[in-house]
Amino acid sequence: MLSTSAHASRNDVALHFKVHFDNKTRLIEATIEVDQSRSVLDFVDFRAPKTQFRDFIAGGEFERSGERIRWQPPRNGGKLRYRYFVDRKRDPNSGDREYDARFTKDWALLRLDRLFPGARVRISKNARVTSTLRLSGPKDWAIETRYGKSLGKTHTVPAETRSRYRRPVGWMIAGDIGIRRDVLAGVNVSVAGPKGHAVRRQDLLAFLAWTLPQLVKVFPDMPADLLIVSAGDPMWRGGLSGPGSYYLHADRPLITENGTSPVLHELIHVASRRHMADGEDWLVEGLAEYYSLLFLRRSGGITEDRLDKSLTAIKTVADEEGGKLANPSRGADTARATVKLAELDRRLPGGLDAWIRSVPKGSRIDCASLDAFAKKHKVAFWSCELPSR
Ligand SMILES: [Zn+2]
Repeated sequence: MLSTSAHASRNDVALHFKVHFDNKTRLIEATIEVDQSRSVLDFVDFRAPKTQFRDFIAGGEFERSGERIRWQPPRNGGKLRYRYFVDRKRDPNSGDREYDARFTKDWALLRLDRLFPGARVRISKNARVTSTLRLSGPKDWAIETRYGKSLGKTHTVPAETRSRYRRPVGWMIAGDIGIRRDVLAGVNVSVAGPKGHAVRRQDLLAFLAWTLPQLVKVFPDMPADLLIVSAGDPMWRGGLSGPGSYYLHADRPLITENGTSPVLHELIHVASRRHMADGEDWLVEGLAEYYSLLFLRRSGGITEDRLDKSLTAIKTVADEEGGKLANPSRGADTARATVKLAELDRRLPGGLDAWIRSVPKGSRIDCASLDAFAKKHKVAFWSCELPSR
């Protein structure tokens, strides 16, 4: 039998993810194209709530049941198309300033991994899977993804997780946007936000020029490319990290009044996310908060005295609001975790740096490894078992 595709050999499947921004309807036209010469990819099944995923057109077999869709592409490949409604509130009951994804007539800001959700798939054993991402939109728009400058471009999507359904992930921004790029501590950094919003791109780059060299010395997995997207209201007033990228509201300061840094906090999440264990939110959040102080101290941004004052203030929050090591870790809980980690940092030989560096590549930065490191150095340590709430 002749292959219908010039590209796909018998055990290959190529996935092509396409994104088109239609700023008249304010919807994304998304396509997943499967290029194969036999059923290497048998089916794709993902969560696609009707509030966001609309107007499916599928080659092959398609079924929508409840919140999920199941697509079985033709044996020799085919396409699944849909329209995607971007706007999303972080808390559905919140007011108008709480969007964590938004498509206006001038710009769009969202996560690619929500547009192309993680899926249950069946892919032949030993099949070679390759993926590409192609983005388009109005001619006068710019598009920035963590894969780089993206309008009219096709990117190869790298393998980053064990999942064989290799899809584009991370934050992205499109539209009438301003972008600044620099190479800092070996990382290709882009900062992008809608024009006219108070996004301080140059401040952010200068801040990272001072602090990123400290961060990459400790956290082993800082991606080679980093995208920071930012916007003002009505976007959510906080920071949210994703693979190789994060979102930060334009009003968030580089350094808060208590000396911690939302910019560094999210960056530490980006640099450590592949190594953190599930269910140890206190460790994830405590490390991000404590190291955001440490990297400021080490880069000369705050004095030793300021660091001590900050830790004292954080301890007061933990004490007064009854913070404890918890999963999920809320404000006072993260404060408690920060204080505990700061104490341990002073008692461990080589500090927490030595522990993080001792974790073999590919292993988890988790409480078990911290426990083992502390025991090895005969440093008393609290239990990794969390009391239930
Ligand atoms: Zn966090």
